Amino acid sequence: MTDASVFDQYPLDQWKDPSHRIMDRFSLAGKKGFVTGGAGGLGRNVAAAWAEAGADVAIVDLPRTKETLEPLAAELAERYGVKVVPLYCDVSDRAQVDALKTSLVDSLGTVAVAFINAGVNVPGDDADEPYEVWQKTIDINLTGAYLTARIAQHIMREHGHGGSLVFTSSLSAHNANFIAGGPSPVAAYGASKAGIYEYARYLAAALAPYGIRSNAISPGYVWSGIFEGRIVPEAHDMMTAPVPMRRFGTNEEIASAVLFLASDASSYVTGTNLQVDGGYSVY
Ligand code: NAD
Repeated sequence: MTDASVFDQYPLDQWKDPSHRIMDRFSLAGKKGFVTGGAGGLGRNVAAAWAEAGADVAIVDLPRTKETLEPLAAELAERYGVKVVPLYCDVSDRAQVDALKTSLVDSLGTVAVAFINAGVNVPGDDADEPYEVWQKTIDINLTGAYLTARIAQHIMREHGHGGSLVFTSSLSAHNANFIAGGPSPVAAYGASKAGIYEYARYLAAALAPYGIRSNAISPGYVWSGIFEGRIVPEAHDMMTAPVPMRRFGTNEEIASAVLFLASDASSYVTGTNLQVDGGYSVY
């Protein structure tokens, strides 16, 4: 039976407590987490942000990234004084993701924050794309997100604590992104990222009773691995013409948004999508 004590959970002025600091909400001190696509631009910057915020972090990527991942883990651990472990897994392979669950618990003990971020943009992803392009995109981006989010939320529930899932969707989930009147280069990619967004929303409702939040970010153009060194200045200007802020975003601008969604700073935020796109989506 509900009585007036139900209102006790809503403090009105927490700042009046002299020991209270709202910035503490952004801390991940003592938390354990993992980042998929951890060798890539967004992934390694989120791993660094979470490590700086005090979390032990597993950075997860394909075995072919070993030469990047091993020194990255060592550098983050040294710099931030937390545990950082490299783990290898193809997120589209169910058996490998199941094995990742065991490795995460063995190396970190548990998982309370997860950045579900590994993704690919496969050449030839347009209206005439071959089946193989479609299938590879969906397998890695969408099924990979499902498989890795599944082990994350199962660990959280098995260990009886809440947590936060943050998914990397994309501007392309919401906008067909026809640049300068050309055909969309990302048909399956956009479909996979829209699926991620809706899956994140579903999990928000399903997992709220377990204290688990689920949100997505939708980056616009971010100057990370997929663009750096691969486009000419004219392409930069063409791509940023429809962006109100007239520039790409940076990996750190993504990392700070993901830190917000992972941490208690966003403790009443679930089922949402945070556009980090310089205003592109307002048009
Ligand atoms: P990136 O290529 O630097 O990083 C992607 C990482 O995912 C790579 O390290 C790669 O090895 C890993 N990966 C690929 N397939 C994998 C698999 N099967 N299993 C495990 N790991 C795998 O790219 P990024 O810019 O850091 O992108 C990260 C995420 O952000 C992706 O999901 C991408 O679609 C999304 N995104 C990026 C942008 C952008 O402008 N950079 C915009 C919107 C969304």
